[in-house]
Amino acid sequence: MNLINLIFPKKCAVCGEFTGDAVFCGVCASKYEQIKREPCRRCGLAHSLCCCKPQRLWGEKQAHCRHLFAFDGETAKALIYKLKRKNLVSLQKFFARELALIIKDELRTGEEYILTYAPRAKKAVREYGFDQAELLARGAAEELSLPMQKLFLRESGENTQQKTLGREEREENASRAFALCRGAEIRGKVIILIDDVTTTGSTAERLCSLSLSAGAKKILFMSIAKA
Ligand SMILES: [Zn+2]
Ligand SMILES: [Zn+2]
Repeated sequence: MNLINLIFPKKCAVCGEFTGDAVFCGVCASKYEQIKREPCRRCGLAHSLCCCKPQRLWGEKQAHCRHLFAFDGETAKALIYKLKRKNLVSLQKFFARELALIIKDELRTGEEYILTYAPRAKKAVREYGFDQAELLARGAAEELSLPMQKLFLRESGENTQQKTLGREEREENASRAFALCRGAEIRGKVIILIDDVTTTGSTAERLCSLSLSAGAKKILFMSIAKA
């Protein structure tokens, strides 16, 4: 433990207990390991090994998906809440390393990779002051020494009617607001896209079709949690 941690001991990113210099307290650390090991209901593999795709991407051979755990249960929901609402550098760095470990597994020699992210809605960036997906992508790129580039824009297509829609319809609506950045050079490259939660897959489907139509070779969707 260094001096700064003695003066400002860290709090567990899930429950708020003082931890010294760890991201999680002992109890939450073991709960985290447990949610990664829980089996996927479709393939039976641990979530951190599962490659199941959302239904919308079943027909897309060039799209691959990985995640760390299911968006299910108290621990998973608390982690995602903290990631989206609180700008906790220790939690962002922790997840960036976790994502990097899985991405490393997927890397093949001879391929050119670009790390990117699904940008957060402008309104939410204004409200919370950060874009968690961008920070995760930056962190993972650093861990892997791969280039990170902003490839997608998100037009503010949200309107007040959004509030009356269900979660799936909201995501469906929001997915139409994504566009490829002008001048993005992705022909022949493998795109690694970082997002916090994969839900219906409509965002993934949209970003996949934008990437493939601009000549990308493959796209790997990396999310922290999968709903
Ligand atoms: Zn804790
Ligand atoms: Zn699975």
